Amino acid sequence: MRFGQVSFKKIGIRFYAPFAASLALLTVIFSAATAESPGDPKKLAFEVVERNAEAIAAVGDVLYYFGEPGMQEYESSKYLKSTLEQIDFKVEVGGAGLPTNVWATWGSGKPVIAIATEMDALPEGSQTPGSIPRKPLVDGAPGHMEGHNVMAGMVVGAAHAVKKTMEQFKIPGTIVLSIGPAEEQLMSRPYLVRDGYFKDVDAAIITHIQDSLATGYGLGNYALIGAKFTFKGRTAHGGVNPWDGKDAVDAVVLMDIGFDKLREHLRPTYRGHRVITNGGVQPNIIPDVGQIWWFIRDATGPWAKENFDKLVNIAQGAALMTGTTMEMEPFGAAWPSLGNKAIAEAVQKNIDLVGMPKWSDEEQRFAKELQKSLDRKEIGLNTKPLPLQPGRQNSSSNDIGDITWVVPTGTLRFPSAVPGVQAHHWSAGITPTMSIAHKGAVVGAKVMAASVLDLLTSPELLTAAKKQFAEDTKETKYFSLLPPDAKPPVDLNKEMMEKYRPAMRKFYLSKKADFK
Ligand SMILES: [Zn+2]
Repeated sequence: MRFGQVSFKKIGIRFYAPFAASLALLTVIFSAATAESPGDPKKLAFEVVERNAEAIAAVGDVLYYFGEPGMQEYESSKYLKSTLEQIDFKVEVGGAGLPTNVWATWGSGKPVIAIATEMDALPEGSQTPGSIPRKPLVDGAPGHMEGHNVMAGMVVGAAHAVKKTMEQFKIPGTIVLSIGPAEEQLMSRPYLVRDGYFKDVDAAIITHIQDSLATGYGLGNYALIGAKFTFKGRTAHGGVNPWDGKDAVDAVVLMDIGFDKLREHLRPTYRGHRVITNGGVQPNIIPDVGQIWWFIRDATGPWAKENFDKLVNIAQGAALMTGTTMEMEPFGAAWPSLGNKAIAEAVQKNIDLVGMPKWSDEEQRFAKELQKSLDRKEIGLNTKPLPLQPGRQNSSSNDIGDITWVVPTGTLRFPSAVPGVQAHHWSAGITPTMSIAHKGAVVGAKVMAASVLDLLTSPELLTAAKKQFAEDTKETKYFSLLPPDAKPPVDLNKEMMEKYRPAMRKFYLSKKADFK
């Protein structure tokens, strides 16, 4: 009955304008009823999120202590799978050749709305949560120093709330939860998109931890193509018969110089950076193997590809000059993220509806103490959400961007981090299991759930989002930045994990996330 009232109110306003006058009175009556009753889908979703605050925190905390870097998220994906199966999601782990990829669905039919985020930790990020001085749990081990663990908890909480609300209000459609591996190496989403994971998805919302509650639209960051170039030659004695050698490290050096010569002739927006991952053994052995790892970026996918193709030519030239062979291994790719304005407007309304967490004095005090220890301004935690604004394109990259070029996508940043604390620094590993992170995730899950419900229940919003998407992608069409035969590097970070996992295991939490 209550559902009837709500849908009547909505349909009355949207489709039966001629009857608007007579409906107005009914609407007033029903509004009064729905404001406090569980007849409001969003209100129910918020209640579900709130009563599951502990479970949302548990997912994030458990993943924190797993501390698994890209492609090694075996414990994390196993835990997410069992948690999601307990709340009736159908879960696939290991899609698109990515052994730890999590793809979960619930519901049936159209529309299909996806929530996407990531779950990986970073090398050398191990830190004791709550300790402001540097204190790794395990010296040298990886750990969460960006809060991807909090993101995973937040999206499970949001998906659960949407599901509960869909059941209660008989809302048709499918929820997809995509938790990708190896975001920090820009590794997974191009494979998911290439394998068609998003082809039936009508709209998506991607999310990331931040120190504020915000959305945005337009281009968010840069495109990137990564690759490792391995040169192989012939070894010889450096002093006795160097003329018999073909020096693979010479090829590495010539490639580096070649790209430096190119720099002047690239657009001012380009970025090109590299590390030499194999530079030989010792000077009197002519190296028969050399390797250099490049990241090439630019403001658009096509521009990054243009720069990258030139880099490949330089590599071929270097091989030719030194008589070596060259092999290229793709290593990460990403499009800039493209935020959909129609979805951003809907998300913003939910941001304004939910508002920021109510921070305690203790949380504010801790945030200021942390800021002080890092020589940052002692401003504490943010207390107001940000207003809607176009995204500012920065020169970092996130492979989640690929999704945004094949599906109309909204973005959501939620306030689980402390302002002024730099991600990818161990100090960002202090708070991801503290109440600051937990409260931010609750707020994030509410906004996410409400926004997904908007996309599920408003055909007008979906139409507007698709129209905006067609407009935004009119000039630039998506193509994969991966070479056609590229395969994900499944052994990425494997050695590191084999070394540290036994010591890290001692800190694992045995906490079950009981969603109700
Ligand atoms: Zn991240």
